[in-house]
Amino acid sequence: MIRKSVQNLKPYTPGEQPKISNIVKLNTNENAYPPSPKVAAALRDFAANALNLYPDPLCVRIREHLAKLHGCEADDIFVGNGSDEVLRLATGAWVEDDGAIGFFNPSYSLYPVLAEIREVPGIALPLPDAPDLPDCLAKAALPKAPDLFFVANPNAPTSTQFPKAAMRKFCERFPGVVVIDEAYAAFADEDCLGLALSLPNAVVCRTMSKAWSLAGIRLGYAIGPRNLIDALYKIKDSYNVNALTQVAALAALSDPDWMLRNRDRIVATRARLARELRAMGWTVADSATNFLWCQPPAPATAEGVMAILRGRGIVVRHFPGPVTGGHVRITIGTDEQTDFLLEVLRKGN
Ligand code: PMP
Repeated sequence: MIRKSVQNLKPYTPGEQPKISNIVKLNTNENAYPPSPKVAAALRDFAANALNLYPDPLCVRIREHLAKLHGCEADDIFVGNGSDEVLRLATGAWVEDDGAIGFFNPSYSLYPVLAEIREVPGIALPLPDAPDLPDCLAKAALPKAPDLFFVANPNAPTSTQFPKAAMRKFCERFPGVVVIDEAYAAFADEDCLGLALSLPNAVVCRTMSKAWSLAGIRLGYAIGPRNLIDALYKIKDSYNVNALTQVAALAALSDPDWMLRNRDRIVATRARLARELRAMGWTVADSATNFLWCQPPAPATAEGVMAILRGRGIVVRHFPGPVTGGHVRITIGTDEQTDFLLEVLRKGN
């Protein structure tokens, strides 16, 4: 009774959400700080009696707000139930049944799962160095280009970013749609929004889960060429963004200074943690995100470090496998959490 492709599907594994309290949770790249107090106020003021009504199916007010923020039109924007929904809809709207979906390895581990769900080949190319990005597809000499290519930029889990100029060349040379997944762009020095607003085949995907501290409400959005955005609207659920999410998102968007202050704190803590880890002999990638991708000095191993941290109530993320298994991914926490993390790592138990 269950489709073969679903029987064989290895679903996406989300990072653990431990139920124990007092855990230092540095494993799923959530924001270390709470959202603007305006969110709590808006939810308090929300008239629960109005929940008998459906929410705005088109998220008009949110799109108007986002349009002002990003200097585009509301019609250039699609809003979804987290950027995960937007990514999934992209595979439904812009990929033919006999097409394929491309992505890099390592990158966001949802992309291969989305290709499997869509029942098209997932083409994983090794994550290139920035200078090799524009020509990496030509070098791969695929029999046929994928219809859609997901580029997380900055990338997860490696925390690194391709410069906009290299991304532009990649998009210009790619015949299909490039989704530039900018979940972490707020923590970086540049972004590719300008490409999505000028090229016919580039779409940027953003989320309120990271910089805006709203992972719990599930709101993501895409900005790009109108014909591509319109196609997403055609296939979405009727009411894909619930009423409480819309209220909370609008309240957060009305307080961008709060987001920017927390962003700046996280970027400062990121620099401190990277400095301290490097001083202890760790290899740490230059991060454009709210996490670090790092490798402990031998003879320490990623698994060993994970075990030591877990013993002291600190959870970080490990992706087993030949490409990623030597690293740990550490979400940037508060300064207090970072002090504790460093203390445990220095002591080694
Ligand atoms: N893209 C990337 C690269 C991510 O790391 C994540 C977070 N897991 C997402 C998208 C999903 O974000 P959202 O919470 O908006 O679904």
